[in-house]
Amino acid sequence: MVRKKSPLYRYWGYLLLVAAVILLFARDVGPLVVSGAFALCFTWMLVAAPTWCGAKNRGEGYCRNNSSGLLGGCKLRQHKWQRFKALTRLGTLGDALRGWFSGAQQQVATLALIVSAVGVVAGLFK
Ligand SMILES: [Zn+2]
Repeated sequence: MVRKKSPLYRYWGYLLLVAAVILLFARDVGPLVVSGAFALCFTWMLVAAPTWCGAKNRGEGYCRNNSSGLLGGCKLRQHKWQRFKALTRLGTLGDALRGWFSGAQQQVATLALIVSAVGVVAGLFK
């Protein structure tokens, strides 16, 4: 009965995001529930969404190893450090953001992140 890494399991954050949007338009659902659901999506995008690493390679282009979440890097420790440093230095923030848009998976996750952020606020004013 043990199923290994079904797509549903890997992408549950996106399903939750869809559910949160439906909740936003549903009646009889409190603002805290809606904002909470969006906040959970937001966190999931940052730490668990299936994405590419996106760290800048020493040569050209961006690392295409799988990683978890927009904030995480791949298994290369140097890349994790690189992502972290990029976020803390304004000068390289552009690079970090470009990394976030380096592939289709990244773009979807980044857009979902923005939708979640808007949703948290929208939920509060529901
Ligand atoms: Zn990497």
